[in-house]
Formats: sequence, C-alpha cells, structure tokens
Amino acid sequence: MSPKLIDTQTNALKIRRTKIIATLGPASSKPEQIKNLINAGVNIFRQNFSHGEHSYHKETYAQIRKIAKELNKTVGILADLCGPKIRTGKFENDKIELKNNQSIIVTTRDVIGTSDLIPSQYTELAKDVKAGDRILLADGTLEFKIDKVNGTEIECTVIYGGILGNHKGINLPGVKVSVPSLTEKDIADAKFALDLGVDFLALSFVRSASDIKDLKKIVNNHSCKAKIIAKIEKPEALENADEILEAADGIMVARGDLGVELNPEQVPVAQHQLIDLAREKFKPVIVATQMLESMIENARPTRAEVTDVAYAVTLGTDAIMLSGETAVGAFPIDAVQMMDRIARQTESYLWTHNAYGSKMKSGIGEKAIPVWDAVANSMSRLARDLRVRAVVVISKSGMSAATMSSARPAAPVIAITKSMDICQKILMHWGIVPVLSEDTKEKNINELARNVAVEKELVSTGDKILLVQGFQSDVTLSKPSVTILTI
Ligand code: ATP
Ligand code: MG
Ligand code: MG
Repeated sequence: MSPKLIDTQTNALKIRRTKIIATLGPASSKPEQIKNLINAGVNIFRQNFSHGEHSYHKETYAQIRKIAKELNKTVGILADLCGPKIRTGKFENDKIELKNNQSIIVTTRDVIGTSDLIPSQYTELAKDVKAGDRILLADGTLEFKIDKVNGTEIECTVIYGGILGNHKGINLPGVKVSVPSLTEKDIADAKFALDLGVDFLALSFVRSASDIKDLKKIVNNHSCKAKIIAKIEKPEALENADEILEAADGIMVARGDLGVELNPEQVPVAQHQLIDLAREKFKPVIVATQMLESMIENARPTRAEVTDVAYAVTLGTDAIMLSGETAVGAFPIDAVQMMDRIARQTESYLWTHNAYGSKMKSGIGEKAIPVWDAVANSMSRLARDLRVRAVVVISKSGMSAATMSSARPAAPVIAITKSMDICQKILMHWGIVPVLSEDTKEKNINELARNVAVEKELVSTGDKILLVQGFQSDVTLSKPSVTILTI
C-alpha cells in the first residue's frame, strides 16, 4: 500500500520521548493529585520558590518522593529559584481590575494593595526607573507608562489594562536592574532545596555564566549535587548563550519573561536556536510557559496551543513544561494528559517519517567531528536501519546516556545506572528510560541489556537491540563499542 498523502493516524509510540514537567501549586499538591499527575505522565515536578513557604515545599517534596516510590516510578524534582524577579505584593481582595488610561500608583512601601495602589516587594524599583519608562506586568499582559517618580511612589498611566493578581511578575524592558542574579532569598532557598535533596536547581533571569558559577559554588559545598538549569529569559542571556550553556547543566526557554524582554515574535526563533545549541552540547533543554495556558480555565486547549506543543516536540526539545495549568488551573490532570497525547502523536509522525535528526553534525569537510558525536550519529543510523527496539547504555555519570539521547535515535535509550540519583537526573533527557541496576559490573553485560529490554516490555523474541558502552569522560581513554543483540 502506498503511504497516505496526509497521514494523521500514525500509532502513538509506546514510550514518550519528550519529557513532561509539571509545576506544583494549590491545584495539585495533595497526595492524591500528585499520584494522578504521575500516572498521567509527569516525569519531573517543578517546585516554584516564587510562591509558597518552605514548610509547603518540604511537605510536597516528601510526598513526591513517597508516592513515586509507591508507584515504582522514577520522578525528578526541580526547584525553581526566583532570581531578581520583581513582583507585585498582596492585594486586599487578591486581585484588582485596571482599565485603559486610568491612573495607578506603584509603591515600594510595604503595604497591602488596593484598586489604585500596587505594592512591589522590590524596594529599589523607584530608583531604577524614570518618567517615560514602560512597566509590563503578569508576563506582559498589562502595560503602564511611568509619568512621574515621587520618592517611593511611581505614578503611572495604564496603557493596557486587565486583571492583576498577587505576586505577579513586573518587567522593566530596557531598564538596568540593580539587584544581583542570585539574591539573598535565592541563596537561602537553594540551601533549603539542597537539604531536601532536589535533582535540579533552576535559576531565573540569568545574565551570564558567572551567575551560574555563583550557584555552582553553593552546590559544590553541599552533599546534594543538583544539576543547574539556567532560565533563559533576558536578552543578555541570549547574547551569552554559549558560555551559559557551558557553565550550566541545562537550560529552560522561559518564554513568559523572554517574550516581555524581547518582542513576542522573537521568541520562537530564539527557542529554535536554543534547542539546537543545547543538543549540540548534550545538555537538556526545557520549553516553558503558556504551552496550554487556556487549560487553566478550560478543559480543552486552543488549536494554537496544541500546535505550539507539537512544534516544540518537532524541534526535538528534551522537555516541555506546564506552569499555571497544573499549579492553579482547574484541569491539571487533563492538561498533562493532553500534553502527553500531543507529544506522542507528533513523535509517532516524526518516527514514521524519519524526521528526527535534521541537525546532526557531520564529518564532511576538513575537520573530523568529536568521537562522541560520531558514535552517537552512527548508533542513531544503525538503530533506524536495523529497526532495533531499544538502545541500551551503561552509564556511570549519565554522560554516555546524554550523548546517545542527543542523536535522537529512533528507539528509546535505556540508561542503566547504579544510582537512583543519576536516574532522576538523566530522566530529563529526550528518550531516556532510566533503569536502576546494582550489577552493571558482575553480570554478563549482554545478558543484563537483554533482560532490561524485556522487563521494560520493549522487545519480544527475535527483536534486535543495541548495546553501547565504553565511554569515558576522558576521550583518549574511551573505547566506544556498539553491540547488536538479538532477543
Ligand atoms: P516564573 O517566572 O518563575 O514562571 P510565575 O509567577 O510565572 O513565575 P508559574 O509557576 O509560571 O509562576 O505559575 C503561574 C501562576 O500560577 C503564578 O503567577 C501564580 O499566580 C500561580 N502559582 C504558581 N505556583 C503557585 C503556588 N505554589 N502558590 C500559589 N500560586 C502559585
Ligand atoms: Mg520567568
Ligand atoms: Mg511563569
């Protein structure tokens, strides 16, 4: 039968390659809800330290670990540090409505907000801005023009009004903000999250690699070796993307604030290039914010949102993230299920039509490409040509797993490691299925690889798998080998 011209019915893949991250909040922190979210497909939970007390985060952290264990699932935890984000304070009735052209005062005094007074926790705000500057609020949905700065009071005219809630973001595009990237609160939150044992620490409003290095010092002085994710949401971070990616363990395309700091139409192209760059460096990349935004209120997303999720998957991002949808939305489980379905449908199309891997480096020309890239490339090709059902990697640090994942092979990458800690971290990478095994040394490795593929229900008799091993962090010591095994 010749293939259909327009193919919309490819069978969804058994194992989703793109990972799902869900933000926890009032709509999702009860044990029952966490359990349902994991069952719906959440791979990693995000605890947003911009909201909620330490006691709340401690409690949800313990619940996630407990429930994941009960369900026998590997689940990662990411603590998101606020960084120098300027936010509104609290309002008398939790929110206010602002009309176009009305006057409004933003104050840095520590007060409760009213219908014509907006408090901001960032006390330097009034010193950083001047008449004529623009203030954008709530991921840029509202806009004010500053008329006059009067001590602690910033007098503004509302250009675009709307509803403004407690603790919503305030952006000052083009204004040099005087706070450091790692604030006092971030340092305290980072230590607290490391004490809990989180797998990832994300830092907001990163401007350069030195912001990451400051946080890395804190991690290095702690027994919990959390991976550091740089949130890319400032123009400076785009300029320094290369050095930031070298210093960090991964990045998040934080499109909410990025779309306010840049023009919205610049965000998709930034996203595309950041995904390619991260993949080249074997580091995971997360696409975040407003992915299924309308599902905060509705049970069904807009077609545009569905397409946005599918686009991120098509670009080969490692992870896609839900924010308000799961933190405060009315349909957190539906949102995760929807995301899972979109990802799997898109992936099955890409798989069937061999559309992954468009960005692989190749050795054509004068210079050879690095050994790791070359092996990953051929492994990816071999996996497709032989129609293997799984690629098995024995990974000590997670490095070889990350390398294999970056080639976006047609089969899932089963990464066998000896530590639960590594499992929870390599989980972030595209297509990785982490497996904990004590006996990666003693047992016959071929046997182990076969058994694991069978246990994961990826193979039946006669199927082929690939076993990749022999990577060392020092390339000169590496003896990479690929073995073809038949079940
Ligand atoms: P960021 O810039 O880090 O994404 P954010 O304020 O946009 O910060 P999100 O995690 O994206 O936060 O969540 C979207 C909205 O959901 C927030 O603006 C906030 O109103 C609400 N929210 C999220 N987590 C919580 C929480 N734990 N408690 C209360 N409200 C929350
Ligand atoms: Mg942000
Ligand atoms: Mg957000």
